[in-house]
Amino acid sequence: MSFNDSNLSVCILPTSTIYIYLYCSTGRPIEMLADGVLEYCSLMILLYYVHCDFQQCKVQYFRTGRLCGSAGPPDGKGVEGADFVLYVSGVTTERCGQENIVAYAAYCQLESELDRPIAGYANLCPNMISTQPQEFEGMLSTVKHEIIHALGFSAGLFAFYHDDDGKPLTPRFASGLPAFNESLGLYQWSDAVIRKLTRLWDIRGGVMVRHEVHLLVTPRVVEEARRHFGCPILEGMELENQGGMGTELNHWEKRLLENEAMTGSHTQNRVFSRLTLAIMEDTGRKVVTLYCDTVRATPLQLTCRQDQLSVAVCNLQKYPKDLPLDYQYFDHIPEVSVMDLASYGGAVEIADYCPFSQEFSWHLSGEYQRNSYCRVQENQPDWWRNYGAEQYGPDSVCLYQKTAFVMEQCTRRMTYPDWGSGCYKISCSTQGLTVWVEDTAYQCVSTGQLLSVSVRVNDWVYNGVLVCPACSDFCSACPLPQQLPPLNTTKIIPIDPCSSSSSLVVTLWLLLFNFIPVCVELTDWLVDWVADWLIGWLAG
Ligand SMILES: [Zn+2]
Repeated sequence: MSFNDSNLSVCILPTSTIYIYLYCSTGRPIEMLADGVLEYCSLMILLYYVHCDFQQCKVQYFRTGRLCGSAGPPDGKGVEGADFVLYVSGVTTERCGQENIVAYAAYCQLESELDRPIAGYANLCPNMISTQPQEFEGMLSTVKHEIIHALGFSAGLFAFYHDDDGKPLTPRFASGLPAFNESLGLYQWSDAVIRKLTRLWDIRGGVMVRHEVHLLVTPRVVEEARRHFGCPILEGMELENQGGMGTELNHWEKRLLENEAMTGSHTQNRVFSRLTLAIMEDTGRKVVTLYCDTVRATPLQLTCRQDQLSVAVCNLQKYPKDLPLDYQYFDHIPEVSVMDLASYGGAVEIADYCPFSQEFSWHLSGEYQRNSYCRVQENQPDWWRNYGAEQYGPDSVCLYQKTAFVMEQCTRRMTYPDWGSGCYKISCSTQGLTVWVEDTAYQCVSTGQLLSVSVRVNDWVYNGVLVCPACSDFCSACPLPQQLPPLNTTKIIPIDPCSSSSSLVVTLWLLLFNFIPVCVELTDWLVDWVADWLIGWLAG
């Protein structure tokens, strides 16, 4: 398995434990067969609900012949520190005989945020397993092949692929699911994943006929297909069109890639090519990126620490000279010339210059004031510099801001140039996750949902847009996709900043002028901040 270990990796929180929820999509109990084969998996039931509460996630292994869901037995312990749980069986099933196959596999369950498979199964048909040493290589490649199916190369998962930004490539309904294609028995993918094309096809007698093909068209697969075939206009990589359910669309086209390991049958000398690695990468299952690639610059682009409990900045920076070759990681950094890439790295040398999102602190005249950790109430900024309407405290977490917050009075308008994330209070209920801004509740229905925030504080109106985190990141019980209320599409009317008098103006002026002499000694950050405040103020 060293091949898979060295070539496939997934970034995931190291403390997470996988909890597999046995879900009844049809209302009937999901049962283990008497022989122990996890038939609920092969039913291709996607659902798939995972608590990833950082600490508390659990796997329930076997619930033979019992009702699942709330009526089922209590939760199991889960699998701690796992990225993926693979159930392996060696049972002669109907499918083994019918199709004369060596093994079959699929995913069982997807993680709720990026739809990454977190559990799968593989059944090796005993009558087809050989213990002959000369067949060992072939058997091993079969197992690798099956694992790659369970990890993502599967027609049932095409509709769940994400792009590099974590956005689904196939549109979703409010339920969080894509459309279901009854005739295929699969969730229907979009053109961004698979495209159907008609090729002109040479047959005997100099005749050309039309031949329909399905091409996988995700970016890295297209790039590798073009490279492999030396054809810069190739639209994508063709998928298998034969072999029946299970083979068709689930493999590379045998005619084109013959002994590639992810073609639908084993002929000879199986090899895994860059194309298969490309599709694994294009599934888009980067759960949490450990490393970041935003250069630390003014204004700061704020982000969240990996655990989403602290506002952070990517500590990628430019060094005066090139870093040692071992630590030159980047082929590309946005807005950095290729000539300079060798001198960019993370600020922490002993982290091998790997850049990561790091919390930070504010100093005043060299004296420590506060830091960016959301859970500590003492980090709460003074109200007059709380430009993002943030709230620090034990129930607060770091949320992304889609736009910079605007602070408004009737005739004044200010924004702060450093933005991107902030600390906000959240709570959990049976409805899911709620974000609180100045005692106003905003209900999150889905991950990535945008919340238009408009609140009034001390005669100032704050307007901004926050991004909903995954409910399962913070709440131990979250509604299932189909239990979610429909997204409230009622437009929130922003508060009119002129609807109240602004008696505080004078006070603020005084405050600012008092502040200026001190500013000279402040860190760059605060100098910038005050300068900007003044600019905003004067412009207002
Ligand atoms: Zn296969």
